[in-house]
Amino acid sequence: MNFSSDTPSPDFLSALHAVCNPKNIELGSVLNESYGRDEATKRNYTFDYLVKPVSALEIAEIVKICNHYNIPITPRGGGSSVSGGASPVNGGLVLSTENLNKIIEINTLDKIVVVECGVVTEHLCKKVEEKNLYFPIRPSSAAISFVGGNVAHNSGSINSLKYGSAKDYVLNLEVVLPNGEIIWTGANTSKNSSGLNLTQLFVGSEGILGIITKVVLKLIPKPKYEYTLAAEFGDLKALCHAVLSITESGISPSAIEIIDEFAVNLTADFLAAKMPVGLSGNKALLLVNFDGNSPALLDEVLENCYELIKDLMSGDVLIGKTPTQKEELWKIRMNIGGALMQGSKVYRDVDIAVPVSKLLAFMESVKSISEHQRVNIACFGHAGNGNLHTMISVDKSSDLEAKYVIEAIDQIYKIGIEMGGTISGEHGIGMLQKKYMPLQYSESYLNLSKAIKKVLDPKNLINPGKIV
Ligand SMILES: Cc1cc2nc3c(=O)[nH]c(=O)nc-3n(C[C@H](O)[C@H](O)[C@H](O)COP(=O)(O)OP(=O)(O)OC[C@H]3O[C@@H](n4cnc5c(N)ncnc54)[C@H](O)[C@@H]3O)c2cc1C
Repeated sequence: MNFSSDTPSPDFLSALHAVCNPKNIELGSVLNESYGRDEATKRNYTFDYLVKPVSALEIAEIVKICNHYNIPITPRGGGSSVSGGASPVNGGLVLSTENLNKIIEINTLDKIVVVECGVVTEHLCKKVEEKNLYFPIRPSSAAISFVGGNVAHNSGSINSLKYGSAKDYVLNLEVVLPNGEIIWTGANTSKNSSGLNLTQLFVGSEGILGIITKVVLKLIPKPKYEYTLAAEFGDLKALCHAVLSITESGISPSAIEIIDEFAVNLTADFLAAKMPVGLSGNKALLLVNFDGNSPALLDEVLENCYELIKDLMSGDVLIGKTPTQKEELWKIRMNIGGALMQGSKVYRDVDIAVPVSKLLAFMESVKSISEHQRVNIACFGHAGNGNLHTMISVDKSSDLEAKYVIEAIDQIYKIGIEMGGTISGEHGIGMLQKKYMPLQYSESYLNLSKAIKKVLDPKNLINPGKIV
């Protein structure tokens, strides 16, 4: 059901004007390009108003007004969702959190940071690092995504293997509930066993249960050094065995990433003369990061890692210690997205996570789906977490709707779940992955999720159409 109307109610607008500065309210019809979509949706959705509140109190009043006029609200952070979470699929009001952008406190004694939800992730990371502290969850989208969006999607990053996901750092949240009440969900302490864990209910809730307005994050000491090991492999089997040898060994990398041969080839063509020296550009690639405070210990760990994988490798091992050396080794990984979009191509990213022990079986099944359905699929990503970006690449966005492509996507989800995996390792469910929820979860789980949504948001006005 689309709630959006061509002629927004004048009463509704007057009510908004009474609580928000009119300069922070704009007509949706002229803004669809920028706010009517996110990074997943291939179209712009129409909506009535964009509102950019400046405080939780203002949001609470807006929510009450929307309740009164039955207007749906889509909470929005940086709009970088790749699962369709921030797209206003039911029109109504887009609530951008971009003006809630203050770092309220960095407390070096308690090792916490208190931020408004609209702080850009990269800015937060830099500010805490200036105090020798570390917020390790830095998604590749950190330059555009907001902390509130990271929490709402329970986002991860390349070093999630060692440091976990957003959920592992959230201590306390200020949330505007769908009825306009404001609550704090936890405490600003590193331990807390008081009451239901509502903090974790809101982490990953993708804006369907309320609007997160402030976030209290745990910080950790920043490791002084980070080294990278890169190695090439002749086939998937050797590559995946190398990953398992490392994860089984007890050494503790901060990241283990893999890139299949198809993605490497494509990216090598894209980079052409800018290809990293020492890499052939036509073999599957393994990248392993180690961090810590002692260069001698890190050297020892690199040596141990090399010993574990050397008989499986095809070519030399490469080590990066300086920022420039590391950037070179990570260049292929960081340019896959660009390579996949060459020549106006588009892709759909399926970010299933499977148990690491099933990595090889999963990748082999994806290869056979790719051949059978005759669709190009690049597989790469966070192998240490079993979380792969399985990118289905096609010529134009309408091709993503083609039967053979949908069938390929359906089959990938099915085999991932059959192998004990999860629909999404870090991108969330949003709109795109919603139809696959029954593959993973029982009817009782799904009914309970709907019941929780209904208790909090009986009119289904906060980010309707997502997850449940
Ligand atoms: C190039 C690129 C690289 C990426 N790399 C990664 C990566 O490494 N790891 C990763 O996990 N993801 C990655 N992503 C996906 C995306 O960036 C993350 O999901 C990110 O956390 C979304 O943050 P955002 O601020 O852009 O949120 P948005 O896209 O604006 O919103 C995401 C969801 O959260 C809800 N929401 C936003 N703010 C709030 C709030 N304050 N309260 C309640 N709900 C809210 C929205 O309604 C929506 O459902 C990448 C995306 C791109 C385009």
